[in-house]
Amino acid sequence: MTNNLQPIVILKPHKEESVLRFHPWVFSGAIAKIVLDRNYPYAEPQEGELVKVVDSTGKNLAVGHWQVGSIAVRLLAFGTDTLPSDFWHRRIAAAWKLRQALGLVRPDNNTFRLIHGEGDFLPGLVVDIYADTAVVQAHSVGMHLHRYAIAKALNDILPHLNNIYYKSDDTLPFKAPIDGDKTGYLAGAQTDEPCWATENGLQFRIDWLQGQKTGFFVDQRENRALLERYAQGRDVLNMFCYTGGFSVYALRGGAKSVTSVDVSAKAIDLVNDNVERNFSDSTGHFAYAADAFDFLNGKIENGEKTSDKYDLIILDPPAFAKHREAVPNALRGYRRLNAKAIEKIKSGGILFTFSCSQAVDKEMFRLAVFTAAAQVGRKVRILHQLHQPADHPVNIYHPEGEYLKGLVLYVE
Ligand code: SAH
Repeated sequence: MTNNLQPIVILKPHKEESVLRFHPWVFSGAIAKIVLDRNYPYAEPQEGELVKVVDSTGKNLAVGHWQVGSIAVRLLAFGTDTLPSDFWHRRIAAAWKLRQALGLVRPDNNTFRLIHGEGDFLPGLVVDIYADTAVVQAHSVGMHLHRYAIAKALNDILPHLNNIYYKSDDTLPFKAPIDGDKTGYLAGAQTDEPCWATENGLQFRIDWLQGQKTGFFVDQRENRALLERYAQGRDVLNMFCYTGGFSVYALRGGAKSVTSVDVSAKAIDLVNDNVERNFSDSTGHFAYAADAFDFLNGKIENGEKTSDKYDLIILDPPAFAKHREAVPNALRGYRRLNAKAIEKIKSGGILFTFSCSQAVDKEMFRLAVFTAAAQVGRKVRILHQLHQPADHPVNIYHPEGEYLKGLVLYVE
């Protein structure tokens, strides 16, 4: 509904161009002024509130969530000054239709990302689906304020959902006080039964309460399937394994042995559960709660120097750069880590190496890995260049949405 108390954000001349191209953000520097109705109760727009965006002549451009910071408005709908009453239904239905078209909804696959923020024209919202549960994360106060409408639309559109768990304690900005719980069930309730979700016919225990992010890294599904093709007969080291996605695929692919390493002991418990659930014999799997560098340097507790015998290594570390200022350090981190793995891997070995830092683009990452290879002085070829899967789409007007990149290297 148009509401004359709704703040109006007037852009500077020419600053409408990116909005007309459907870029989903308005930066604070693009704003000429903000007009507030004389009955508006505050001196400035409130974090998370819906605002209208107009060009310098007053023409309606879009409507979006106000945010305190350099991204001032995250745009939801273009060419309008109001959110239609069926807005959430329409957007979520469109996202669901795309996931069905992608072939992700199958008896052997019920794990996928339903909403990928800007990539689904819903900036600030992430929804992952695990069997009959949706885990919802708000990255903006605006999405937090709309959480019940989002849950209602999810319930209406995905008839198989029994639970909707809201998990935004790590993702919401803390600048402003926020009304309402940042975690909890919006539908359904916690049960004692663990959730086993299926990805490409493999089962994974998803622990959204204790786990990282929404409980599982859905974005590596296709890269894990590629790894499976290379695993036959190899000794695999899955570094930064978290719940062991790559480990389980490697075992199904016929790996001779798989070693999973993560600094988190909780993650190691999940890896072990996942391996046991999928394979009657888990004797070829070894798991260590250890720091990656310590492990690669052969400094693990029981003293075995296992790190010298691998011919397939996966490096999937957490984001080293969370913002632009951290990029130089992050690149040094990627270089050191990759140099260590390239140095250790057996001749004829294969390295799957990733970066999920949004601020590090694929050229920077490739240069860091190139520098690592040159430093070690081994002959290295690129077999594949990897990225995030299609259920993490990138809005073409918002290249910032591309965050996951990987290389598969052949080391002689
Ligand atoms: N490859 C995983 C996702 C990795 S997420 C998958 O497919 O699901 C990154 C992981 O790195 C987290 O589980 C985190 O606990 C772990 N981690 C962070 N710092 C680490 C370190 N210094 N050494 C080993 N693991 C680390």
